[in-house]
Amino acid sequence: MDYQAVLDEVAATVAPQVGRGQAAGYIPALAAVDLGGFGMAVADVDGSVTGVGDWEVPFSVQSISKTFSLALVLAQDGESLWRRVGREPSGTPFNSLVQLEYENGIPRNPFINAGALVVTDRLQSLTGDAGTAMLEFLRTQSDNTAVAFDPAVASSESEHGDRNAALAHFMASYGNLDNPVPTVLEHYFWQCSISMSCRDLALAGSFLARHGVGSDGSRLLPAREAKRINAVMLTCGTYDAAGDFAYRVGLPGKSGVGGGILAVVPGRCTLCVWSPGLDLRGNSVAGVAALDAFTSLTGWSVF
Ligand code: GLN
Repeated sequence: MDYQAVLDEVAATVAPQVGRGQAAGYIPALAAVDLGGFGMAVADVDGSVTGVGDWEVPFSVQSISKTFSLALVLAQDGESLWRRVGREPSGTPFNSLVQLEYENGIPRNPFINAGALVVTDRLQSLTGDAGTAMLEFLRTQSDNTAVAFDPAVASSESEHGDRNAALAHFMASYGNLDNPVPTVLEHYFWQCSISMSCRDLALAGSFLARHGVGSDGSRLLPAREAKRINAVMLTCGTYDAAGDFAYRVGLPGKSGVGGGILAVVPGRCTLCVWSPGLDLRGNSVAGVAALDAFTSLTGWSVF
């Protein structure tokens, strides 16, 4: 596959969509981002990385981090997590509270905020420092020691974090958090604030295309766990747009309100695209369009 030719064509196809949508206004530090950025990278399973546009510009990973916290917990803890969080699509916005009450404080899946808070809680119990555990993992897998937290984003989220605090307190009332709510929130905001480029994220997510083997060649997860993470990405990774994403793109994907989307072609490559303009469900407008164009051009979808 001539990745450069494909990415150049994708970039040209989606150029009219770049700048459409809105930045995540509920996190002031993200609201200030220039909407004109667009980058895309593809990390082949052979370890090579190809990119186009702003593919080496760091952005806020936000909910893409939920993919990695889930992987770290499954790697260390196996299947017991699923007693505390489900794996069904929610059909509701990523920060919704409504399902928690009638499901007794058990979030629908690990990729909505409630579920990710439970995963971070578990990672905190397993490591004693969930944020740093994730940062170290991402630095190793992206082979980039410059990957870092963004303190301005973390504190902006914390200052405007009433919704996430409500989710965490509500789950704590059902006994579904082991650590104090402020500790869980702090580590969750740190993990969301990490800045990485498309290049970094495509490499860091390589284990999802390589059946659990990381970009450094070490086995991070059994192959069956990589399969399961991909399945949950496909069904839940883009929240209440997961059906539309599967329809248009046909790949496991995980979006974040920083405008990034990580997507996987199992056995072939991991993709990351970034463009900060979001649609009403919090997914990058140009990012979804670019992945749609990529799978249309290559014929590489899981379907
Ligand atoms: N940090 C964001 C939040 O908690 C992540 C949401 C997202 O990227 N969808 O609201």
